Amino acid sequence: MKIIDLRSDTVTLPTEEMRLAMYQAEVGDDVYQEDPTIDSLEQLAAQMLGKEAALFTTSGTMSNLLAILVQTHHGDEVLLGDESHTFWYEVGGASALGGVVMHTVPNSQDGQMDLNMIESSIRSQNIHFPQTTLLCLENTHNRCGGSVLTADYTSAAAEIAHRHGLRVHLDGARIFNAAIALYVPASELAADVDSVCFCLSKGLSAPVGSLLCGTEELIESARKWRKMLGGGMRQAGVIAAAGIVALQTMVARLAEDHDNARRLARGLSNIPGIIVPHEVQTNIVNFELSLKVSSSEFIQMLNTRGVKVGYRGDNKCRAVTNRMVNGEDIDEALNHIDLGLRELH
Ligand SMILES: *Cc1c(COP(=O)(O)O)cnc(C)c1O
Repeated sequence: MKIIDLRSDTVTLPTEEMRLAMYQAEVGDDVYQEDPTIDSLEQLAAQMLGKEAALFTTSGTMSNLLAILVQTHHGDEVLLGDESHTFWYEVGGASALGGVVMHTVPNSQDGQMDLNMIESSIRSQNIHFPQTTLLCLENTHNRCGGSVLTADYTSAAAEIAHRHGLRVHLDGARIFNAAIALYVPASELAADVDSVCFCLSKGLSAPVGSLLCGTEELIESARKWRKMLGGGMRQAGVIAAAGIVALQTMVARLAEDHDNARRLARGLSNIPGIIVPHEVQTNIVNFELSLKVSSSEFIQMLNTRGVKVGYRGDNKCRAVTNRMVNGEDIDEALNHIDLGLRELH
């Protein structure tokens, strides 16, 4: 049976060009910093994000953890959105391994945190308080339906944080989706933050990896922490090679995923029993079921029809468009959703 997989953009498979680049990659021992392919990928990433240096890591989760480990001390407090990926989906690593308190600030539907709320959440000097040392932002915002943060918002938030002596980390797992949606280079969206990371293995379709970018000093410190976490990989140029191809060939095409996401959202909102609560800005479509059908029943029904979407709660689902799914597949998925829902109730 044909499968239309909309659970996530992480399901994207490497391209032929990536496989060829992996096969031909020149490699060395990267713990000795002797892998030329890793070096190239790190330089390319730093340049695209407008930072001095970059570090290849195993995953977005590791990049975010490194950013926190490097820019805080045990017992410090980190400000982050209550819908942020780091708060929800990174196994509490910041607290378990970094010893930091996660102080959440409400995210609005557009992925922002109110600037006044950020400022009032920063602790003053008081013997009772932990020290607030880091602000984390997320662009695009995963749980807020792939919404984008503008360069202006990011700068304004960073200005507040810096004025109070905090560092700023940007979780840009899908920052190239934001850049494409806003018609700006990714470097502009990260201009005022101290560290930024992005994923190669989502819409960009590489098999593995993420990059953390920042100053030379920050990256040198992150390299040491990465080793401690067991992330010192040897001939990892084999996977970095696919990452280079991803950055060179997969960024512009994200616009197709965004078109398909809008196509899907339009179709979904025309199906009785489905509500698409927010405007779709990138490749994530959050939607809700308004009938007496639970998300789990709905997802199970779709599975039998070869369509996969993600679970987000009792009546909430998520679909993420990606390179493996074209416009016709979207129409086919919509047809299955429509027919399947009619059979369910
Ligand atoms: C996917 C994602 C991550 C984590 O990436 P992994 O590579 O899956 O560890 C971090 N932040 C956001 C916003 C993400 O969407």
